[in-house]
Amino acid sequence: MGYDPNNPMEGRITDLGPRHYSEMLPPVIAANKGKWDYHEILAPGVLVHVAESGDKCFTVRVGSPRLISIEYIRELCDIADKYCKGYLRFTTRNNVEFMTDSKESCDALIADLKGRTTKFPIGGTGASITNIVHTQGWIHCHTPATDASGPVKAVMDDLFEYFGSMVLPAQVRIALACCLNMCGAVHASDIAILGIHRKPPMVDHGRITGVCEIPLAISACPLGAIKPAKAQVDGKEVKSVQVNAERCMFCGNCYTMCPAMPLADPDGDGIAILVGGKVSNSKSMPKFSKLVVPFLPNTPPRWPETVQVIRKIVEVYAKDARKYERIGEWAERIGWEKFFEKCDIPFTDKSIDDYRLAYDTWRTSTQFKFTKATAAYTSK
Ligand code: SF4
Ligand code: SF4
Repeated sequence: MGYDPNNPMEGRITDLGPRHYSEMLPPVIAANKGKWDYHEILAPGVLVHVAESGDKCFTVRVGSPRLISIEYIRELCDIADKYCKGYLRFTTRNNVEFMTDSKESCDALIADLKGRTTKFPIGGTGASITNIVHTQGWIHCHTPATDASGPVKAVMDDLFEYFGSMVLPAQVRIALACCLNMCGAVHASDIAILGIHRKPPMVDHGRITGVCEIPLAISACPLGAIKPAKAQVDGKEVKSVQVNAERCMFCGNCYTMCPAMPLADPDGDGIAILVGGKVSNSKSMPKFSKLVVPFLPNTPPRWPETVQVIRKIVEVYAKDARKYERIGEWAERIGWEKFFEKCDIPFTDKSIDDYRLAYDTWRTSTQFKFTKATAAYTSK
């Protein structure tokens, strides 16, 4: 029955949940589920899992731009029909994986994918730079301070050699969020690209009582920078808010709550870079990423300043870190002062925590290393 807008509840189906994943398992995976013996990475982007039964599942991982058309999905389906009995899957980082149960069809699949130029680049396994987990940006969200798909394309173009190889000390996870709601993984990634504002919100007194729950906007502020206030609109007194610009750190939470407090600004907005986060428990505990570059301008369409800083960090890390060491583990071993020196990143006061529990991030020790930066204070 078609949807009847005059009778919206009739025939309504709800609360079904997702299809059960077992309906979509390739036969070799369904037959060996929970009975895998070991796996190997045969080449960048190509894995084999061997089951206790001796069955093998070959997986070919390809990069995807995440934001994809139906035509692109249909092409993925055609490839899966041809080589993988119609099965495929997406990874937690939005790569695509094709699985086959024979080496011959795996080789044919790889040759086919390579024949489609760089549309389906093979890689993203092992000590590589895999796909960038990212957000909506200017494509769809109303609170971003930068774009998502644009910077991700620019950064992945520049680091493409690391997607299809495994030459780094360990995997490098890059993530992007276009505002500090941090949808996704920026707070816990080796390298994080984060959209930030640098100007306080404007208050549209004419609209605010009509579109905002004022107490919500006030309580949205992590710094208590918003207080109730009266304003004059067309000679009438209205209830509104006042923002103490000296206290505001431009987080944009009030705008999330109140559409009459916009703060996006083409010159003020840009990108901050954070470094050193991880989620796995391997060798060291999970870590939060830390702010190392407070501001880079929004320079669409290729964001060259952001691309350059990230490449520098990756190259210095690749040369200096020990095998299996993630970026955060490397930075902590050499000392963050050495990280800034080696990566040629000027240290600024913006990297010094000043929010509530800040004290524990300062150095309560005489242990530190002299760097070029400290030499400026100690040479006389
Ligand atoms: S990170 Fe912010 S701007 Fe980006 S999609 Fe999430 S809420 Fe929207
Ligand atoms: S932008 Fe953030 S810090 Fe500034 S007033 Fe709004 S909620 Fe407060």
